[in-house]
Amino acid sequence: MYDFSGQVVVITGGARGIGLATSEAFAGAGARVMIWDSSEEALAAARGHLEAHAELVGFRQVDVRDADEVQKAAGEVLRSHRKVDVLINNAGVNFGDQSATGISDRTWETILDTNLKGVVHAVRSLSPGMIRRGQGRIINTGSIQAESPVPSFSAYAASKAAVVNLTRAWARELGPQGITVNAVSPGFIDTPMNSSLSPEIRQAVIHRTPLRRMGRPSEIASVHLFLASEGASFINGAVIAVDGGMTI
Ligand code: NDP
Repeated sequence: MYDFSGQVVVITGGARGIGLATSEAFAGAGARVMIWDSSEEALAAARGHLEAHAELVGFRQVDVRDADEVQKAAGEVLRSHRKVDVLINNAGVNFGDQSATGISDRTWETILDTNLKGVVHAVRSLSPGMIRRGQGRIINTGSIQAESPVPSFSAYAASKAAVVNLTRAWARELGPQGITVNAVSPGFIDTPMNSSLSPEIRQAVIHRTPLRRMGRPSEIASVHLFLASEGASFINGAVIAVDGGMTI
């Protein structure tokens, strides 16, 4: 359906869950994919999973919280591929006690540093090359919790609301340079991030979703493909809910 041959795509958190499905979708459409992920174990598993696309996919351990490491990884991609066409800021975490009374500095900082600062680090490192070429696509990852927070996930909700507004701010700033910046806001997607949900919470989530099921990672990947495609050339600053109707 799509042909991304010759394009270079960087996907953060690309070794697992939504990121892995997105990496597979882009490689299947002919793109050169660079997976940046902090988990050595997930990277090794992804290498096996994507063996059919081995010539197109590169793997690098990168912690998006570390600005220097992101800058170094960006330099490597630009040296070997000379450009990045698409950046997908997908890496994210959600864990721990985030209650108003119980949240620790470590929990707050880890969530904000990954979900928010990590996005800033990647955009700061890769947007200059896009600006020089006068083109590029940046796709960020929001969440339904940016609009409709779940109790006791305050740090996660705050980080995603900030990412949504960064998306809009960058869409205004970088649009004149030929770069589109959009976000996908997934609902509840069946990934390792949600593997610890109790059966009761799973059922409650499914009940609240008009399509009566959780989403599949491939259903986010297909929206990433669309936003990076020629068909989305006039979409800028959009936040697309992919949630089975949960936020209606
Ligand atoms: P997963 O936990 O399944 O996968 C995320 C990947 O990102 C993991 O491989 C993880 O590695 C990696 N990662 C985490 N921290 C970093 C970091 N600092 N630097 C680089 N890589 C990192 O998550 P999902 O696929 O479910 O989620 C992907 C995105 O979608 C996230 O931004 C999430 O917030 C968002 N989202 C997900 C929803 C869902 O229901 N699944 C709903 C709404 C939004 P490690 O093992 O090291 O943590």
